Amino acid sequence: MKKILYNQQNCCIDTPYGEIAFLLLRKNVKNINMRIRSDLTITISANRKINEKTIYDFAIKNLNWILHTIEKIKLKQKAKQKITSLADQTELYLLGKKYDVHIINSKTDKVFISNKSIQIMQKDILDTQKTQQITAAFLKKTGEKIFNKLCRKWMKLTEFNTPLTFQIRNMTSRWGSCNPTKKKITFNLKLLVFPIQAAEYVVLHEILHFFHKGHDKNFYKALAKFMPDYKEREKILKNQVSVCAE
Ligand SMILES: [Zn+2]
Repeated sequence: MKKILYNQQNCCIDTPYGEIAFLLLRKNVKNINMRIRSDLTITISANRKINEKTIYDFAIKNLNWILHTIEKIKLKQKAKQKITSLADQTELYLLGKKYDVHIINSKTDKVFISNKSIQIMQKDILDTQKTQQITAAFLKKTGEKIFNKLCRKWMKLTEFNTPLTFQIRNMTSRWGSCNPTKKKITFNLKLLVFPIQAAEYVVLHEILHFFHKGHDKNFYKALAKFMPDYKEREKILKNQVSVCAE
């Protein structure tokens, strides 16, 4: 028991962004290693011979990496939640950007978006159900504009001339789906959480299914031709749900 206590130590660094706590593990490792878990706990492993100052300097040197990784984990976790239920929280992710959510008393229900915040105006600020409805309507309207623009762009570029319709839904197991018979594409509302490059990738992916039914060699060849960086874009969505269920 004593040994375990000796090997673990709670540490903390002061940063311009507030205090950052980490658990210091003394192990038989060569270098200093740092790890951030999905619950946002930071662990630094270091050899017993390395003094504390070196470890603190290491943490401060890697501050940008820590902050960036924490943001990345938070973004992934947000995407897993139902996007329309985010209104009762204090922040919302839209197209890869974090916005503070302010619920403001107003005579009419509407949403204002500025550079850093989203203001949800409503008559009764305590009516959380109403807040969710207003947010869902706002996100759907925003999504319609974005997907409409992207569909037009990629239909033109792929020379797909048959009119198609699309709908946006909260889906749990895929980012998009395509019904070639009905000429209809369904997009996951959660795509709005990520940078627009991710939504654009799903748009092209689904449009290409009108030309290629499955995910064969020719499908990926076409994908690479129109979007040479599609793998990078796919990575944004990786470890979430699959792109489509075909
Ligand atoms: Zn597919």
